[in-house]
Amino acid sequence: MTGTDLPALNIADLQSLLRRREVSAGEVIDALRARIEDVDGKIGAYLSLNFEAAAKEAEVANVDLPLGGVPIAIKDIISIAGEPCTCASKILHGYRAPYDATVIQKLRAAGAIPFGKTNMDEFAMGSSTENSAMKLTRNPWDLSRVPGGSSGGSAAAVAADEAFGTLGTETGGSIRQPAALSGVVGLKPTYGRVSRFGVVAFASSLDQVGPLTKTVRDSALIMNAIAGHDRQETTSLDDPVPDYTARLGKDLSGVRLGLPKEYVIEGTDPQVKAAINAAVKHMNSLGAEIVDVSLPHTDYAVAVYYILATAEASANLARFDGVRYGYRAANPKDLLDHYGRTRDEGFGLEVKRRIILGTYVLSSGYYDAYYLRAQKVRELIRQDFAKAFEKVEALISPTSPVPAFKFGERTADPLQMYLADIFTSPANLAGICGISVPCGFADVDGQRLPIGLQLLGKALDEARILQIAHAYEQTTDWHKARPPIAAIRQNV
Ligand code: GLN
Repeated sequence: MTGTDLPALNIADLQSLLRRREVSAGEVIDALRARIEDVDGKIGAYLSLNFEAAAKEAEVANVDLPLGGVPIAIKDIISIAGEPCTCASKILHGYRAPYDATVIQKLRAAGAIPFGKTNMDEFAMGSSTENSAMKLTRNPWDLSRVPGGSSGGSAAAVAADEAFGTLGTETGGSIRQPAALSGVVGLKPTYGRVSRFGVVAFASSLDQVGPLTKTVRDSALIMNAIAGHDRQETTSLDDPVPDYTARLGKDLSGVRLGLPKEYVIEGTDPQVKAAINAAVKHMNSLGAEIVDVSLPHTDYAVAVYYILATAEASANLARFDGVRYGYRAANPKDLLDHYGRTRDEGFGLEVKRRIILGTYVLSSGYYDAYYLRAQKVRELIRQDFAKAFEKVEALISPTSPVPAFKFGERTADPLQMYLADIFTSPANLAGICGISVPCGFADVDGQRLPIGLQLLGKALDEARILQIAHAYEQTTDWHKARPPIAAIRQNV
């Protein structure tokens, strides 16, 4: 097929070409490979690629399956049999996953072709991908800025047309925030909706896998493939999976959208505020009723998140001891020296900070004051949402208070970095679903930087927020804007 810039297509359009046999799955892989070879030296979205395996799968792809012949890139925290799974950490150096995660099995069953692993903050801890032990990922809209995190590689790959769609993971915003900063669509499903079997655990009561895509419809298509019950995963929900595309195209009449008053905070960039206000007006013009709501415990969310997430991480990361796999310190004196030096040399600074914090909040004497109290406030946050959802179908807010920031701008002060999670982490604590869609651009030093609009829905109401996001997307042009690929090629 000549004349079509294949990698620039979204999944739905790519599928039409594949199904009409106007392009073959093999040609798609070739075109994607060429694009990645062309731009990834500048972007740094990928940690590993396996085009040989992908080409073989393409040869036998059944393009009539739901995602038949569609290459999908995977955050490097999700296991693909035989492939590296580093979590962007030195401590998993040399490790290869022995099996496919359930989401990978499901993608394959839908005909998709996983072909590469994307960069991330080490063990998904961060908001800029700067905590990767491997490399920086640059924001395709401005190479001097971060793509967001922790699924920064997954977001940048989609934005730079180096992937048609990707999987990321969230614990406190790691799909929605990089989606917002990189100008793509990111969906965090309800806790338990997507299996975490084969996904390296960060904070098990918060973690969830979800798609990053160019369009809302593509997000629904990937959800159709990956959602569902998994007997191998104890937190997996045994609820029927709807067709997530079923509501797309329905209008917004009768939809009530809540504006949480606590989400209007100082420190939100004025251009972000203006874009969200305009989006709210637009939703209203599409027939949605706008309702003021209150989430009174919002102020505590970031603190509660960083107590619970670090506590759970300190336990989950205890397994990385260099005994059976991964990095191992040289010439240990004895077993304790082996553990101590392996973990000291293998983990990066942020991961160590979190293990120490988490161990502290769980330690006797402090457990009640921190961990237990945080659990109680988590329940209040959950109730805030439950009350709000008695009045409205979805909530609307910025995804991130600021557009993409420069490398190094927030690394010196972890609290500054943690504030990136202010609008996203409450949804993880409450276990509800959320989506970020492009809703405008900020003009910063002459650069156009994407802004993301967040919609939050009640548990298992993904189809509803997809419907609202789709109605917005289809009546605006933001998702059509692409970063300047030509400039990326020239930039050093
Ligand atoms: N930025 C948050 C953190 O650093 C969220 C990370 C995530 O969702 N994985 O923990």
